[in-house]
Amino acid sequence: MVTVFDHAVQAGQRAYFTIPVGELAHKAVIQLPVIALAGEKDGPTLWINGTVHGDELNGSYAAWELSRELDLSQLAGNLVVTPICNPMAFECRNKISAVDSMDMDTAFPGDDSGMLTQRIAAIIYREIKRTANALISFHTMATPYKAEPYSVRKLVPGVSEEVNQVAERMQRSFGVVANCLVNLCGSTNELPGVTSGALDITCLKDGIPAFMGEMGQGGKIDRRYVEVGKTGIRNVMKTLGMLEGDVEKPERQVLITKRRFLRSNEGGFITMNVASGDEVKAGESLLDIHYYGDQIGSYPAPADCYIIGTRENPVVSTGDRIAFVGTEWKTW
Ligand SMILES: [Zn+2]
Repeated sequence: MVTVFDHAVQAGQRAYFTIPVGELAHKAVIQLPVIALAGEKDGPTLWINGTVHGDELNGSYAAWELSRELDLSQLAGNLVVTPICNPMAFECRNKISAVDSMDMDTAFPGDDSGMLTQRIAAIIYREIKRTANALISFHTMATPYKAEPYSVRKLVPGVSEEVNQVAERMQRSFGVVANCLVNLCGSTNELPGVTSGALDITCLKDGIPAFMGEMGQGGKIDRRYVEVGKTGIRNVMKTLGMLEGDVEKPERQVLITKRRFLRSNEGGFITMNVASGDEVKAGESLLDIHYYGDQIGSYPAPADCYIIGTRENPVVSTGDRIAFVGTEWKTW
């Protein structure tokens, strides 16, 4: 059995419920949906968190569908899902909540006397810390971009080798082609903005193996990526001993150890010449830039690149991100 948010779920039971996490000015209660499955056999508790950014849907959708399909007589341990962990951002169909303009994935472990986003993060994280043995944090790229699903794992100072090894096994077995390893112990500082307060980092610091699944594009439910997510969750559960059977993996996986965003140096429209998953040599044209059909120029790859994601929305200003690429990678 598992008890989460004061709900006791007995072995062999599936529970879908909501808990109140705050209220709006006109007294509408904000509800957090929770899914909890207790297997008939003993085992660890895997927690899946989705929609920490309110427009990132595919991973949540995968977890919700899978929660209906799992045979609890075959499940060893428990699966807990917070599919819409950021209800206000979800309501806004946006990465962040309009109530307090906070990014929840910078707010963990949360603050019970803080802003609404921090308070919701605190309510969720307290339960994660108390019950979870492992965690998958689902994301997508933002809505202007598209990418094949990829995973991200972080090396965080102070995390034990044992926790890192379990996290690595989880990430690898998740079974997507592109897998990123971000070393926060050094000074690469590749990510824009804040990285502290991210759910996966907070979990790792507390000894809970965790990684991120980046499941395509925001603002969409893409059936292909929902299926990738479901297979990935099953794979991780097999690796953790929660399900029987072999892990389903692609023939080739790559490990990307250095990444960067490429940004436009001018305004106009872009036409991509590459797609997510392509491997290109330095100097090859990544995209053409034009203005209502008048060719302005093209954007050569600044180095050998593994294309993680590309911009789908063609309208760019100076400084807009036009692609997300790996610049160091190897077959894993
Ligand atoms: Zn996200």
